[in-house]
Amino acid sequence: MKLPIDMDAIKGFMPEGEGQALAEAARNAPAETPALEVGSYCGKSAVYIGTALKARGGTLFTVDHHRGSEENQPGWEHHDADTWDEEAGAMDTLPFLRRSIRLAGLEDVVIPIVGASAHIASHWQTPLGFLFIDGGHSIEPALADYNSWTPFVCAGGTLAIHDVFENPADGGQAPFEIYKLAIASGLFKETSQAGSLRLLKRL
Ligand code: SAH
Ligand code: MG
Repeated sequence: MKLPIDMDAIKGFMPEGEGQALAEAARNAPAETPALEVGSYCGKSAVYIGTALKARGGTLFTVDHHRGSEENQPGWEHHDADTWDEEAGAMDTLPFLRRSIRLAGLEDVVIPIVGASAHIASHWQTPLGFLFIDGGHSIEPALADYNSWTPFVCAGGTLAIHDVFENPADGGQAPFEIYKLAIASGLFKETSQAGSLRLLKRL
């Protein structure tokens, strides 16, 4: 898939190969229902998914409180000082997300929702044809994302989980734990993988 902008200009954690696999899965997901992403950060994955959906008139809701995950905080491995909002005394990645969406021409396709994932999910009612979980990567938020959002995935819909590492030496285990929960539930079947991205289909 051809991308509308240079992806290196967007901060974030989505290698090209995984982004393209994500886009292809989004394009092939049931079209009657919207897509939703947990963990927008600066919009890298949203631009992949949104570009895939634009061609067929789809919509991606992207959820983030924009205050960063644990590993994005000052002093941690994935902190980026540009994202620090001095007045707020906290990170704020929303301006970066809006910029990415605007530059990619996706303002009519990618709709940001700003707030805590489980809070938003508690008011959500719409079935999803595509769900991408890439929010908090410690066990509590990952489990909360799994429990609060996966019930919305419609039959035939896709559940995508990022940063799944079977070997603890390669990365944190929370995304792998929810991936295992999805398989063990008997409700999802793995269809493919790319890097740390796992793609599952709702049976
Ligand atoms: N998908 C992005 C990367 C997401 S990084 C990309 O492709 O670049 C994870 C994001 O999840 C962070 O921006 C963080 O603010 C957000 N996040 C973590 N826990 C959250 C929660 N409980 N509710 C909402 N957002 C959360
Ligand atoms: Mg990720």
